[in-house]
Amino acid sequence: MKSFPMFLRMAGRRVVIAGGGEQAAQKARLVLKTEADLTLLAPTLDPELAELVATGRARHVAGPVTPGSFADTALVFVATGCPGLDAALHALAKAGGATVNVVDQPELCDATTPSIVDRDPVVIAIGTEGTAPVLARQLRARIEQDLAPNLGGLAALAGRLRGAVARTVPKPARRDFWRWVFQGEPRATWTRGAERDAARAIKTAIAAGRAPDAASGGSIALVGAGPGAADLLTLRALRHLQEADVIFYDRLVDPAVLELARRDAERVYVGKSVGACAWPQDRICDLIVASALQGRRVVRLKSGDPVLFGRAEEELAAARKHGLPVEIVPGITAASAAAASLGRSLTERGRTDRVVFSTGACREGDALPDWADMMRPGTTLALYMAAGAAPALRDSLLEHGLAPETVVDVVTSASRAEESCVSVVLDRLGVEQVPAPAIILVRNEKSSASQTRPMPQLAS
Ligand code: SAH
Repeated sequence: MKSFPMFLRMAGRRVVIAGGGEQAAQKARLVLKTEADLTLLAPTLDPELAELVATGRARHVAGPVTPGSFADTALVFVATGCPGLDAALHALAKAGGATVNVVDQPELCDATTPSIVDRDPVVIAIGTEGTAPVLARQLRARIEQDLAPNLGGLAALAGRLRGAVARTVPKPARRDFWRWVFQGEPRATWTRGAERDAARAIKTAIAAGRAPDAASGGSIALVGAGPGAADLLTLRALRHLQEADVIFYDRLVDPAVLELARRDAERVYVGKSVGACAWPQDRICDLIVASALQGRRVVRLKSGDPVLFGRAEEELAAARKHGLPVEIVPGITAASAAAASLGRSLTERGRTDRVVFSTGACREGDALPDWADMMRPGTTLALYMAAGAAPALRDSLLEHGLAPETVVDVVTSASRAEESCVSVVLDRLGVEQVPAPAIILVRNEKSSASQTRPMPQLAS
């Protein structure tokens, strides 16, 4: 970030605009949205600016211009429309110690004006450090569409009622109260223009000391964090992260994803590293249930998709046993990310019409899955938690007739900065240690007779 975004308090502070024409008028309109004390510095003023002076909204100084003209200012805009004159005024303003914006000359700017979405007192500023003004305009148009024109009024009302809410709504319920205001009925009512009804509903709830439908109970969401890259998170997952009171997360959840959570959400690491059992599953179940029973919104954040090799059933059962509302938020699973990294599809018309998700790690004492049985022609096998099982996978598939030269793709840390893709022939799989976390993809294509030998025990 070369520029630091900041909202400046402007009430009563001196702002100087150097210039008396349309460019200066444009800046004056912007500055006069605030309560700044505006001085127009120019030999003559156009009618719009002259009117501002006549009505007492700005002062006029005709000159002469010296560094002192810019002393004690919060901001200076140089906007004469003449590049040479602008440069000279910029030098004087700098000599006067001012923070300066020169219109259309980014290299002379200490401060630049962002694209603004104005729902005062809700103000959204978008900047691209001059790299992509068109993008800034597109973003602004999108946000303009998303925010009701009267949203600012609701925020202003909330501001006026903050004290009353603090007095009557007990602290633990207060966040729910405001969530109800901004996500529930009041906002919907306000947005469709029934502002008085919305205000009345909020005041009734303040008198009652709680939001009408704010359930006192907590909830649990099993949320898919995706394979790693934060922008592979779903919008629904993001919403849950931003509403959570507490987040229990796994070892493979990328820190960039956690960054997106509400700042004051509690974060609890419950990772299980292979072989170590610091966090047995039943303890995790107990913890998330206990938190939700305290009335908290619990996010159980799991890598990839929570319903694939994520022990989701145990957590769902624990939640249901206690009558807690529980929701699954799907995520992008590692196999999908691995296919994307390889730049190929998991299925291919006429060649692979079946995808099998399987695992190389089983509960202690259980037999390994019968991968060979899964590998009939026309199959892509995506193997999770399989780094350590690579030699066993190789031996099993070779023994059952898959060609030794079958290409196997190993994708480690798909979608993360340290991602790597390695292709080996089946014969060589597991000769070198496969780095984790990895997805192993094996394809047994239908038409590629050269890749497969008959699989005797499976041939029909
Ligand atoms: N629920 C997860 C899987 C959890 S099991 C999902 O849907 O993706 C953990 C295994 O997932 C790891 O051992 C590894 O095989 C795989 N995995 C998770 N993230 C991965 C990534 N970014 N790249 C490759 N494999 C990954």
